[in-house]
Amino acid sequence: MAVWDDLVGQDRVTEQLAAAARDADAFVTAAAAGGSGAAESGGAASKMTHAWLFTGPPGSGRATAARAFAAALQCVSPDRALGAGPGCGFCDGCHTTLVGTHADVEIVRTDLLSIGVKETRDLVRRAQLSPAGGRWQVIVLEDADRLTEGAGNVLLKAVEEPAPRTVWLLCAPSLEDVLPTIRSRCRSLTLRTPSAAAVADVLVRRDGIEPELAAQVARATQGHIGRARRLATDERARTRREAVLKLPLRVADVGGCLKAAQELIDAAAEDAKQVAEEVDAKETEELRAALGAAAGTGGRLPRGTAGAMKELQDRQKRRATRTQRDSLDLALTELTGFYRDVLAIQLGSRVEIANADARDTLQRVASGSRPESTLRRIEAIGACRQALDRNVAPLLAVEAMTVALRAG
Ligand SMILES: [Zn+2]
Repeated sequence: MAVWDDLVGQDRVTEQLAAAARDADAFVTAAAAGGSGAAESGGAASKMTHAWLFTGPPGSGRATAARAFAAALQCVSPDRALGAGPGCGFCDGCHTTLVGTHADVEIVRTDLLSIGVKETRDLVRRAQLSPAGGRWQVIVLEDADRLTEGAGNVLLKAVEEPAPRTVWLLCAPSLEDVLPTIRSRCRSLTLRTPSAAAVADVLVRRDGIEPELAAQVARATQGHIGRARRLATDERARTRREAVLKLPLRVADVGGCLKAAQELIDAAAEDAKQVAEEVDAKETEELRAALGAAAGTGGRLPRGTAGAMKELQDRQKRRATRTQRDSLDLALTELTGFYRDVLAIQLGSRVEIANADARDTLQRVASGSRPESTLRRIEAIGACRQALDRNVAPLLAVEAMTVALRAG
């Protein structure tokens, strides 16, 4: 299976990346053969360049595309000069890149709200290194939209004057999310939301999910591959979604609204707690070991290492906040999808509804209200999201929303 197979419904982008990977490979091969006349890899005729920006709506597969490209750049398959080009998916270069262990590929995925100057300086320093394997030094920045302005300026210098074998792959939801100075120096690729049918197809083919379930979750998540897979494979995610889709029936009176709001907040907190339980203890243990906490001393840390431990704890706290916010955001997305379906039913639209499995609830809400109220409710969810972005206390923002969702 070639690395491009994971890119669902993105034919044009795939073509461009495959062509770039081919030129990049030709460049490396020529340089290795001592071809002194080898043009610069970003030369006018080359489809390869040093900085790329992958944009597209959540779930369109920005990070997947960037990782596939990184793998193709590291492909060492003896067949890569043949038809399909680099990116076989099997060789050591492809495989280690895809699983995240290639020495010359740094994948930066943050669970924090922002990426600061210090982290970016470290990355830029790393980007200056020559690739250990002799091909490319690839840095994948999955959340380029979270760079602070200071961090963006640090990155700008690196993107402007890249080391000869360094490639930056930046990902962001849209062009507007990236500093203009940076995006003007990147080659931009825009991914589209894949069709539900394309998503269902990949779930069946790659993840071995039953066709019927695959079709249902693909529709429910409206082309978001990651969420569709999670919904198909994670019982807890399905239960959570069912609860969210029942919420519109529970907001008949103020008491019900406040209760529903509290439950949404609790569910998000529960998600954060679960992530913390899975990751925090292990991280803490690893850091203790690295700092030299001796087993025989009751695990006491040596002098002068408290700062590092404190730094880890702060990071874990910020991650918990982020997880909580993401979880809440997902619930809001599901609610919006629900009311969009209600509106489609009310207007007699022929659009296929996303939440076909909640048809009874949809019908009840649709027949008990008017399209104008449905629109108002969709706006209330949007307002809640904006309030959360402005750091309004989550419970307050969600309560204001559930009260606005009340019948009438
Ligand atoms: Zn390969």
